[in-house]
Parts: sequence; structure tokens; C-alpha cells
Amino acid sequence: MADSYLVEPDVKFVKQLKAMGGDTLKKCYQCATCSVVCPISPEERPFPRKEMIAAQWGLKDKLVGNMDVWLCHQCNDCSTYCPRGARPGDVLNAVRGMSITEYAWPSWLGRIVQDWRFFWLLLAIPVAFFLVLLGATGYLKIPDGEIEFAKFFPTLLVDIVFVPLATLWLPVTFGIGLSRFISAIHKNAVAEGKAKRKDVNVPDFLKSLVCTVPTVLGHSKFSQCTANKDRYVPHLLVFYSFIGLFVVTNAFFVALYILQVPGPYAQWNPFKILANVSAIALLVGVIMMIRNRIGNKDNASKTSYFDWYLLLLVLGLVLTGGLSELTRLAHLTTVAYPIYFAHLVFVFCLFAYLPYSKLAHLVYRTVAMAYSRYAGREPCE
Ligand code: SF4
Ligand code: SF4
Repeated sequence: MADSYLVEPDVKFVKQLKAMGGDTLKKCYQCATCSVVCPISPEERPFPRKEMIAAQWGLKDKLVGNMDVWLCHQCNDCSTYCPRGARPGDVLNAVRGMSITEYAWPSWLGRIVQDWRFFWLLLAIPVAFFLVLLGATGYLKIPDGEIEFAKFFPTLLVDIVFVPLATLWLPVTFGIGLSRFISAIHKNAVAEGKAKRKDVNVPDFLKSLVCTVPTVLGHSKFSQCTANKDRYVPHLLVFYSFIGLFVVTNAFFVALYILQVPGPYAQWNPFKILANVSAIALLVGVIMMIRNRIGNKDNASKTSYFDWYLLLLVLGLVLTGGLSELTRLAHLTTVAYPIYFAHLVFVFCLFAYLPYSKLAHLVYRTVAMAYSRYAGREPCE
């Protein structure tokens, strides 16, 4: 006999989903075409049709802690073939945004990062902070002589700001958000009979996490897209350029504090080459993503503020980074330092707001994919 379920629609949740890009959810008439065409939906309890029904009814608890929502890679094949233009890919994207806000800590920061009205505030926070920091340490001026960014914003100050962000802020905020998220998806999985134990078995879950890593590195789920195959390459470019920049940042940190070799480094330095290649790949990837979203020939998806926030942030980051370097090499003192200042503002925004932005997808989706394997929904490849 089918399970009975007491429906308690959350109208506010439906309104929030619509505001976050899922405005077409009411158009769905449940034909199930989307679940059939989705290249990565499993045969047992396929998505996204069941999520569309839950979204129409405002069943928040069936959605925000639902691992299937995170197995979706937003290729939008389903939206391309949906006969009603209900754009299930965008609805699931909106649910993921709501999910991040739901588990975020502190929750108020999660809410303002996803609200376009506060975009100026997110930029103003690091601008004000840096101005006060530079003013208080006597560095609030354009230095004379050869351009060296460390003469304007000393490396020690940069590290005082960014090292705690990377080593304390990100682990703590992500740690709290992810532990809430795992508890929620586990609770739902137990309720639906997909998991039996009351608590998550941590060693087994970690094994599932390890076997998920090759799938993430190869973007093998994303590569299964058919109608929107062109989204695969830019995602791969952005993904690996961030890894490249992460390696470079750590290498320069070691060079400075352990090997005692301060910058600027020669252009032929292998890590400098990696930095430049990664920056170019990031620029190309983000431009391709923006072009895809603006082009959007079949109107299969709509770009929400949640998407634009990250795209514009990454574009600002890579443009100011590249222009800092070029204006330094061209000895344009009066523009090089302000551009470098802007670059640090974008870097701050990327780090400080990462757990609440669309980039957090990478972490949440990896965890959900690992949980899916842990719960036996997908085999380890
Ligand atoms: S979202 Fe579209 S394809 Fe999917 S069930 Fe609804 S109407 Fe059908
Ligand atoms: S966006 Fe792609 S992965 Fe997500 S449900 Fe639709 S077809 Fe499947």
C-alpha cells in the first residue's frame, strides 16, 4: 500500500523558491518527461518530477534535505524537453540555494549573500575594513618608486586578513553547515527507508567520499548532458583553474614564510606560469559561462541572482588580478595600486562569502554524492 503523507504546504517557501529563479514551478503538469530525459537520474525514485511536485506543494522538508536535489548537475536537459516550460533544472537550482541558506551559519549572512539588495554591502564590508586597516598602519597612500604591491598592502597585512579566513572561517562555517546538511539528508533517508542506522557511520561515509572524488575530478556526471553539452567545458575550466590558483597560493605562502623568498616572482617561475595559465583558463571559462547564459537559445534556463552573483564575482576577481599584473608591468603606478586594492576586495568576497554562494555547490554536492553512495543509491565506481 502506498505511504500516506500529511501535506502541510509552506506558501512562504514556494514564494522564496520563485524569487530565487524557480518562478515557473507552477507550470508543471507532472508528465514525467523530465525524469525520463535526465541523463543521471536513477531508475528507482527518479528525479526531478517528484521534486517538482514537492515544490508545487511547498514541501520544504522534502526538498532542502533531499540528496537527490544535489545529484542534479543543472545541465538543464530536462528543461529543454519540458513541454510546459516549467524549467525543472532552475527549480532544483533554486532549491539548492534555499538548502544552502537553510543550513548556513550564521544564517543571516546566508540570507544577505543571496539577496541582490545587499550586493553593495558585501563589497562595502571589505572596502571599509581595508581602508581602516591601511589607515591605522600608515599605508593608506600610493607609494613612490618601482611598483611593488607589498609596499602598498604589506604581505603581512594580507596574510593577517586571508589566513584566518582560509584556515578558520571556511572550515568552521562549512563544518557547521555540512554537519546540519548531512543530519538532514540522513534523517530523510531513514524516513524513506534508504538508510537503516539512526546515525551516520562515519568510516563508511568517508569511504564513500573517497570513491566520489574521481567522479568530481572528471566531472563525469556533467559530461552525460546531451542537449546542453556545451556547459561541460567551461565548468571544467573554472574547476581546474581554481585548483591551479589554490596550488599557487600555497606554493607562494611556503616560498615566503618557509623558504624566505619574497615576491614579486619572475614570469618564468613554474608557479607563476601556473598562476597565469589558471587565470587565463578562469577568464575563458567564466566568459563561456556568461555567454551560454546570455545566449540561452532555447530558453531552457533563466539566470538568477544566485548565478549572477558568482559569475560577476569571479569575473571581477580574474579581471582585477590580470590588470594588476599588466599595469604593474606597464609601470602605471596610479592605476596599478587601486586595481590591486579592488582585486583584494574580490578575493575577500570570494573567501568570506563562499559557504553561502553558488560555489558552495561544489562542497555540498560532493557530500550529497558521497551520501548517495553511502546509502546505496549509487554504486562506487
Ligand atoms: S517539469 Fe515539465 S517535464 Fe517535468 S513533469 Fe513537470 S511538466 Fe513534465
Ligand atoms: S538539470 Fe540535468 S541533471 Fe538536473 S534534473 Fe535536469 S536533466 Fe537531470
